[in-house]
Amino acid sequence: MSSVTVRVPAKVNVQLSVGPLREDGFHDLVNVFHAVSIFDEVTAKESEAITVSVSGKWSGQVPVDDSNLAIRAARALAKHAGRGYGADLLIQKDIPVAGGMAGGSADAAGALVACNELWGLGLPFEDLMEIGADLGSDVPFSLLGGTAVGTGRGEQLSELPTGGTFHWVFALADGGLSTARVYAECDRLREASAAEVPWPQLDDSLMEALGTGDAYALGAHLSNDLQEAALSLRPELAPTLEAGRQHGALGAIVSGSGPTCAFLAIDALHARDLARGLTTTGAAHTAVAAHGPVAGATLL
Ligand code: ATP
Repeated sequence: MSSVTVRVPAKVNVQLSVGPLREDGFHDLVNVFHAVSIFDEVTAKESEAITVSVSGKWSGQVPVDDSNLAIRAARALAKHAGRGYGADLLIQKDIPVAGGMAGGSADAAGALVACNELWGLGLPFEDLMEIGADLGSDVPFSLLGGTAVGTGRGEQLSELPTGGTFHWVFALADGGLSTARVYAECDRLREASAAEVPWPQLDDSLMEALGTGDAYALGAHLSNDLQEAALSLRPELAPTLEAGRQHGALGAIVSGSGPTCAFLAIDALHARDLARGLTTTGAAHTAVAAHGPVAGATLL
């Protein structure tokens, strides 16, 4: 095989509960990931060395040096296989960069699946999940897709059954937000308020809403402990969230560490109207309708 293409989804966190700051600098999380139909494609082609190039509207914002997560993933896989394999990786980028939608993790997952195939390694999915977890806590979910809860640092994953398709609108913002910076702001705000930070717990009502496919109940139970910190760093996101609610969104939250905002719609038609409403009123310059859950990294 001389070329392999893998499609990988973006994610939104329908629950992101952040526990107290641990001594190792991480937080215990309850992180309910939901894969949505905004995709990157990662193509791996036979080559001597491991290289990356990026196309698509976000290409200018993605590093093409050794810090690119797809390169790091391919290197980790070659190391695991114990040989100096090469691949030219081409990322067709549609997932916003530093947008709180795990785009880099998606590309890492795509590179793992594509190179496993290109190099004929035949490694089982569990091995890719382990290599992925070492690369970043969102990478295993990008491999898995669907809806899943992550605990620990977010990397211990269990799949969650969902009772239907949910329809979303994502309002894209100018410029990204660094995930580390948003966590630091969250810690700062908590320290300033001196309030007790509860141990993160999975929300049973959210589970039920996902299981029954009840969009109204899901909208009412969306939660994100990083939202306050993201809004503190980007106050202009608050009116965007409010505009979505005004347009009938069942729920409106910052996606992960932001600055992308996620709105839950009633159905596909409502999602289309909501997206149009957000852009025509100027509440967002770009709004994309999508659905979830969708599959994780998939060979095309
Ligand atoms: P998360 O939701 O997992 O916290 P994010 O969606 O906010 O992450 P990413 O798009 O994954 O953020 O990018 C974070 C940073 O990682 C970018 O600013 C970029 O410099 C770097 N990066 C490395 N590789 C990639 C890649 N393949 N795609 C996007 N960003 C990458």
